[in-house]
Amino acid sequence: MYQIIDGKKISQQIKDELKEKVAALKAQGKTITLAVIQVGSDPASGVYVGNKKKACAYIGIESRAYELPEETTQEELLQLVAQLNADETVGGILVQLPLPGHISEDKVLLAIDPKKDVDGFHPVNVGNLSIGRPGFVSCTPAGVIQLLKRSGIEIQGKECVVLGRSNIVGKPMAMLLLRENGTVTVCHSRTKNLKEITKRADILVVAVGKPKFVTGDYVKEGAVVIDVGIHRNADNRLCGDVDFDSVAPHTSAITPVPGGVGPMTVAMLMYNCVEGGAKNACNQRIL
Ligand code: NAP
Repeated sequence: MYQIIDGKKISQQIKDELKEKVAALKAQGKTITLAVIQVGSDPASGVYVGNKKKACAYIGIESRAYELPEETTQEELLQLVAQLNADETVGGILVQLPLPGHISEDKVLLAIDPKKDVDGFHPVNVGNLSIGRPGFVSCTPAGVIQLLKRSGIEIQGKECVVLGRSNIVGKPMAMLLLRENGTVTVCHSRTKNLKEITKRADILVVAVGKPKFVTGDYVKEGAVVIDVGIHRNADNRLCGDVDFDSVAPHTSAITPVPGGVGPMTVAMLMYNCVEGGAKNACNQRIL
């Protein structure tokens, strides 16, 4: 029988730990503040921003919302980022993606002070992760590590396969598994004999961006399978990159969608805010 890794429960534990920490910081006169910038009115972004604000309110983080119109220029947005970089009362800055087409996401993300880059997307933070220095880590892969650790799944010495090499999930995921002493292989769209490689995995992390792509024949008996994917079916139900029904019976543990990796992303964003704010510098590994 396989274990279902409960991301809802684990993310709640993390939020409760952070709430205590924020209360202790408040008692010392320190407030944690996150600036959230949204440009335009993309409905999905609206939902994500709403979830982040809700989590801030629960934990006791002050969230400052900057809701800018679609026609905001790149220059205006860069000016706001510069102003928030200089504002000592702001600990973290988050720019909700995607941005409207006339604004370069790259230019804006590069403009954020790496010490306030709670999404962990700035090249300085990506570089710090890859050379083992402290820094903000991209929230979704950081959440996967917490799911594994808090479910009692050892990473050290394990054969870990990451399916996907995006900058925000696959690559930092591989770096984090390596940092935990896993033996890591990264697969992508040009990988040959994909199933042979995924079948070697003790821990398989799937971030391929294709609904129900991974089926039972991709998985070794007793493997741990983490599904990062999020998709909405034709009947409006959520599903992942893993075909849960065909894969789960072959695993020792698996994340569901919804209720697996998804809730961890916001929890780890909150973690980055609290750690960054508490030290007023890049975060350390405390979880
Ligand atoms: P992405 O940028 O589209 O990257 C997908 C990766 O999969 C790429 O590296 C691509 O290879 C690889 N790939 C595509 N088709 C493949 C195939 N047939 N065989 C092998 N590899 C293949 O996606 P992402 O941003 O990493 O996101 C992945 C999934 O996670 C999506 O479903 C997304 O919605 C979800 N997501 C969830 C959260 C969360 O909070 N839970 C956060 C972020 C993303 P190439 O590099 O060669 O193109």
